[in-house]
Amino acid sequence: MQIDFNTTQNPKTSAKHPQNRVLDASYQPSQNFFESDEMLKHFLQKYTSPEGYQYMLDKWQTLGKEAAQDMDELSLLADKNTPELVKRNRLGETINEIRFHPAYHTMTEIALRSEMFKVKWHPELRKRFETEIHRLGFASVFLFGMSEGGLPCPLCMTDGVARLIDRYCEEGDKNRLLSHIYTQDLEELYTGAMFLTEKAGGSDVGANLVSANYLEDKYYLLNGEKWFCSNANAEIIFALARTNPEIKGTKGLSIFLIEKQKPDGSRNEMDIVRLKDKLGVRSMASAECILTDTVGKLIGEEGEGFKIMTDMINLSRIYNALGSLSEMRRALVEAYQFLTFRTSFGTSALNHALIREKLTELTSIYTANFYMTWEAIKSLDQADNGNEDQAQILRLLTPMIKKTAAQAGVYVIREAMELMGGMGYIEDGVMPKLMRDTMVLPIWEGAGNIMVLDMLRASMKSQGFTKMITQIQEQFEQIETGQTLLFEELKTVIDLANQLPKADKDTIELSAKFLFEKMSSLYQIAMLQQYKDEQSQSWINPAMQYLIQNLQKKTLSLQTPLDKETVIQMMAWTSNK
Ligand SMILES: Cc1cc2nc3c(=O)[nH]c(=O)nc-3n(C[C@H](O)[C@H](O)[C@H](O)COP(=O)(O)OP(=O)(O)OC[C@H]3O[C@@H](n4cnc5c(N)ncnc54)[C@H](O)[C@@H]3O)c2cc1C
Repeated sequence: MQIDFNTTQNPKTSAKHPQNRVLDASYQPSQNFFESDEMLKHFLQKYTSPEGYQYMLDKWQTLGKEAAQDMDELSLLADKNTPELVKRNRLGETINEIRFHPAYHTMTEIALRSEMFKVKWHPELRKRFETEIHRLGFASVFLFGMSEGGLPCPLCMTDGVARLIDRYCEEGDKNRLLSHIYTQDLEELYTGAMFLTEKAGGSDVGANLVSANYLEDKYYLLNGEKWFCSNANAEIIFALARTNPEIKGTKGLSIFLIEKQKPDGSRNEMDIVRLKDKLGVRSMASAECILTDTVGKLIGEEGEGFKIMTDMINLSRIYNALGSLSEMRRALVEAYQFLTFRTSFGTSALNHALIREKLTELTSIYTANFYMTWEAIKSLDQADNGNEDQAQILRLLTPMIKKTAAQAGVYVIREAMELMGGMGYIEDGVMPKLMRDTMVLPIWEGAGNIMVLDMLRASMKSQGFTKMITQIQEQFEQIETGQTLLFEELKTVIDLANQLPKADKDTIELSAKFLFEKMSSLYQIAMLQQYKDEQSQSWINPAMQYLIQNLQKKTLSLQTPLDKETVIQMMAWTSNK
């Protein structure tokens, strides 16, 4: 029998079965992550100068479009084609080069064009926007991070080394190096790295062993192994090393500037042993490195290393929180777009109460983290411009946002994945990569417990705790619904804090975890109140209501979800505009 394949119906051809679709035919993914983000635009319009906003606007618009339309493909390519370590050239000479997929370089160019560095480090722009450079630069970082999770680590460290160079290096080094950071030309760009972690000490940096022996002038020879070195091929590396093994702990650590070339122009010795095979953030290279008589220039005085490095670490922690925020937003955009165009049980997915409740929960968590993190970025601008109150609050707020946002990110992205059902799990889309990439955020730059201990230290050594409590109180006084509960909860924090000085070490550390977790939740509600106005109330009010309800002890009772219109309004900043 002859079969005519041209006329035989193929039951798999969806054109002949129009109802057999995953999403409604009108589905269109987001076109521009800046244009669609009412929450971000509202914050930037209100809390940056009109001049600063106008200067950055076209960069954000372009980046928002590139992040929504071009970067996913680049990001997936760079993730699948991971960096390669080339130990030797064809003549058998050791070169220790790391080679990246071209997509990685294309994304770096996108980052440079967004002026995330230029606005901060170009001398003329730095002066012009002195009071707001972090807000302006971080807005680009935020948009970029919605589509790429690996590169923000080298970008963060590049900004971090610029901060240390600006604050602690000699004029000659400043002039020579900073122009390679605010450049728009990829060929000219110098990227940064921080070498802290050793086998003996990640959290416990004071256990580090790498030694530094005096050579001449400000130069030392560094020897030993660094165990986690992201962006190991950086042109500018700051490394911690010990000049005197007799001085134990962090007090014995000094900080050194390591460049690819020695002052005489010859290659600086550093063996890249291997690249780490990571769960996520696979586009960028994390290496194990052995320093053998590697030349480093002492920055500051001997023994000041950890103190100076803290400046870079704290900036990285803010990057870390913002990275979680970018990835959370991306996951919510994906899930919300999916559900808006998904039909189940004969109706729009958004008509199901349990779906609306989950969106309300995740969006509330995101909104709370958004304002808390941007408050920290605003504080950083203020602290860098001499505001001592903000500097004190920031000392506590930095580890607080690092822990809170990173943990929230893992939860929100996982839940958003589930909201997309099977499609959320498939590598055709961005969700699996987002999930893998976000898993590192609670770990690096200090794991959750280390953040608790840092918040404890910050509370003992600065006025941050008292000032933050005052800030919370001032905002709670303006909240009408739930005010009594909020003040009761705040009192439990203050009471517990007052008991800590008399407790033993173990009790202090464990109690601090619960104390700071509660304090973070209260601070988030205070921030929602602080940033609420006529325009933002449509997404802030439901989030605030949700978070206040969540503070109450969970007793069984009838629950009513938000209506569909309110949820749609609340999610407006994830539209497919
Ligand atoms: C992909 C990746 C890239 C990295 N890139 C870099 C880099 O570029 N430069 C760099 O210097 N480092 C880098 N790191 C290292 C990272 O910062 C460390 O892994 C991290 O700080 C944790 O240190 P650790 O691995 O030694 O774990 P540990 O210090 O052994 O900690 C293990 C666990 O114990 C807990 N813990 C430790 N001490 C205490 C305590 N006193 N009380 C309670 N709990 C405690 C921690 O919270 C953690 O959960 C990178 C890590 C990863 C995964």
